[in-house]
Amino acid sequence: MPTPRFTFHQPQNLEQALDLVGMYRTNGKILAGGTDLVPKLRAGLMDVHHVVSLNRVPGLNRITFHEDDGLVIGAGARLADVALNPEVMKHYPGLAHACSVMATTQIRNMGTVAGNIVNSAPSADTAAPLLAYKAAVILVERGGRRHVPLTEFFSGPGLNVMEPMEIMEAIRVPSPPRRSGSAYLRLSARSKVDIAAVGVAGFLALDMDGVIIEARLALAAVAPTPLRCPEAEAMLAGQKPDPQLLTRAAAACVRACRPIDDVRATAAYRRKMVQVLAGRVIEQCYQTAERGDA
Ligand SMILES: Cc1cc2nc3c(=O)[nH]c(=O)nc-3n(C[C@H](O)[C@H](O)[C@H](O)COP(=O)(O)OP(=O)(O)OC[C@H]3O[C@@H](n4cnc5c(N)ncnc54)[C@H](O)[C@@H]3O)c2cc1C
Repeated sequence: MPTPRFTFHQPQNLEQALDLVGMYRTNGKILAGGTDLVPKLRAGLMDVHHVVSLNRVPGLNRITFHEDDGLVIGAGARLADVALNPEVMKHYPGLAHACSVMATTQIRNMGTVAGNIVNSAPSADTAAPLLAYKAAVILVERGGRRHVPLTEFFSGPGLNVMEPMEIMEAIRVPSPPRRSGSAYLRLSARSKVDIAAVGVAGFLALDMDGVIIEARLALAAVAPTPLRCPEAEAMLAGQKPDPQLLTRAAAACVRACRPIDDVRATAAYRRKMVQVLAGRVIEQCYQTAERGDA
């Protein structure tokens, strides 16, 4: 199907972008990398007359890290740049891994983390690690800015709490404590090329005796939205992991999911894989945290 006709706008700064988004809020769309948007336009899934590109807005592609403030990923930062950023690789290995194993080289060179989050697919690969890192998104509109924790962002498959006149400006991720570890594992039928059938992310912080003081686990592709696993997290807090605890915590992750049968996997397979991947993720997080090299 040919791409439908639309007017392409290239604002030179955020104010211009906000004006355009306000003007065309009923029949316009924002474009970052276009890797989700353009296929949808070509498939005739959207009635869009104006496309507002963020690609000429200066500074949006910045990735910055400070020990005190943590990580800020600008809405224009490409998946490939996040995957290879030395600070992301060092302090947020689960996110770096997600950005390096998802999709294809071409898609990772074009696609952005912000686009992945706004698209709000249940299988969004960056969503689970960002949930585990307790990330928040910064949404901006003409009247001001708001910070929304990612736990409150997704509202259904392809749905989120953004207003039509808002632009996601950045994603903010807190700095991890010294003795912490994190990981992301995903399964798909055809390796990177295919969307994940299951994704599991984790984050553990330890005290000096190796006791878990904080645990966060998040799942993708096994429920209408990416989600955290509070029951499993509570089970891990205050404990030192042993094989029985890992099995029980992974089983609690399985209870958190609401998978469906689809072309990528059956619900039963997804549940089994959550059990396996969650156990591995917790183990991996613990080992990294014990080394204290987060
Ligand atoms: C072949 C292929 C393989 C893929 N594989 C994967 C995969 O393995 N895992 C995965 O998770 N995804 C995958 N995707 C989906 C897609 O590539 C990612 O979701 C990507 O991160 C989207 O980013 P983008 O910048 O291209 O978003 P765009 O397509 O530009 O935008 C996506 C949506 O977000 C909106 N948007 C974008 N940026 C903003 C902003 N700053 N503020 C407000 N709204 C905004 C757009 O209007 C649009 O609705 C794949 C896509 C293709 C085509």
